[in-house]
Amino acid sequence: MNLALDDGQRAFREDVRTFLDRSLSPELRRGAALTSGVFAEPDIAREWQTILDAQGWLVYHWPEAAGGPGWTPIQRWIFEKECAEAGAPILPFMGLKLVGPVLYTFGTDAQKEHYLPRLRSAEHVWAQGFSEPGSGSDLASLRTRAVRDGDHYLVSGHKIWTTQAQHANRLFALVRTDPNVKPQAGISFLLIDMAAPGVTVKPILSASGDHELNEVFLDEVRVPVSERIGEEGQGWSIAKFLLENERGGGSFAPQLLADLWRLRAAFGPLKGELADRATRLQLEAQALEMTELRTLIEIEGGAAPDPRSLFTKLVASEVRQGIEALAVDAFGLAGLQLPLERPFYADAAPSPVTSAEAQVAAARYLNARAWSIFGGTSEIQLSIIAKAALGL
Ligand SMILES: Cc1cc2nc3c(=O)[nH]c(=O)nc-3n(C[C@H](O)[C@H](O)[C@H](O)COP(=O)(O)OP(=O)(O)OC[C@H]3O[C@@H](n4cnc5c(N)ncnc54)[C@H](O)[C@@H]3O)c2cc1C
Repeated sequence: MNLALDDGQRAFREDVRTFLDRSLSPELRRGAALTSGVFAEPDIAREWQTILDAQGWLVYHWPEAAGGPGWTPIQRWIFEKECAEAGAPILPFMGLKLVGPVLYTFGTDAQKEHYLPRLRSAEHVWAQGFSEPGSGSDLASLRTRAVRDGDHYLVSGHKIWTTQAQHANRLFALVRTDPNVKPQAGISFLLIDMAAPGVTVKPILSASGDHELNEVFLDEVRVPVSERIGEEGQGWSIAKFLLENERGGGSFAPQLLADLWRLRAAFGPLKGELADRATRLQLEAQALEMTELRTLIEIEGGAAPDPRSLFTKLVASEVRQGIEALAVDAFGLAGLQLPLERPFYADAAPSPVTSAEAQVAAARYLNARAWSIFGGTSEIQLSIIAKAALGL
């Protein structure tokens, strides 16, 4: 496998570097570095989204026909790697990477025309309404029901762990339209206006002090039938398509390696057991990067993704948790401060003990525990690997 970039790819990387140097303000970089949650806070996310959209690079992973820049898989990887190394904010992906591809793949022309531009401009901010109490890993058992009433559905149910629902004005949700067939066949995919009567959002505070998660209660919410994606009963196959993008729709290693590099830079050389852990994490992240690149090179050559791509989220979760644990230990006592004010970079946050990076470490550590849960738990990933990759 030849991993060297060719001349065209190196020139492309220079273009990306020039753009990032010019466009990433110190405030955006600082905001990204001092974020403890999975995604950038809404203020910096919106600003960075607008800059990327003006450049034509926001939906870099969408096909050209849907408005993407027409990059190859390796160009997309170069872009992600450069963004990670430059410390760009991580945009919430519920709209861009989850419902966006669903819309351009399964939506009607009217749905595409209405939703795709508003998704890009951030006029619409999306949340994902899949999980319910008792229906997470066993998603097909979901109970939120949608009862047909003329040209509307009446939707009632209880969604949970809904990331950033407090900022969202649109929810894409799996609902049960037919309780009398096998569970997977009775599910449909609906787009719900969060301002509709009957929608209530209640916050869930994480152990880290972050407010990222919510419960969403739906009480006889009227949803036009025209807001269904695909056919009635097609929701499960659309959800499977979406979950593949959620688990494997990008490279994890660039961000892990960049964060490890920043951690090392904050301390200078680590010593003893901390140095061993940093080296082990670095090797694991580099091995992950090789795996991700092998897959990308094969896809670029026209092959279907290899089952090895199933491993990437699993391994990335372990390395991510290892990096945040290392940070807390390396910062020592200063790594134990856990203010509840957010964002960390706003004036309301208390003065940090020793450094701003130390102040965010404990929250990042606690928040990273969620990596082995969201998007499918590590145990469920192992079961999928056992079946799909090992044939067990
Ligand atoms: C930070 C975060 C953000 C999230 N954001 C969203 C969101 O925006 N929208 C959304 O819809 N959902 C979201 N989720 C929910 C997430 O998808 C679920 O938490 C996840 O699928 C697990 O479901 P559960 O919480 O019901 O746990 P359960 O399914 O009850 O699992 C509990 C434990 O049992 C294990 N287990 C369950 N079944 C099996 C099995 N068959 N074999 C082996 N072990 C098993 C699990 O691995 C886990 O350890 C988010 C979760 C987190 C933590």
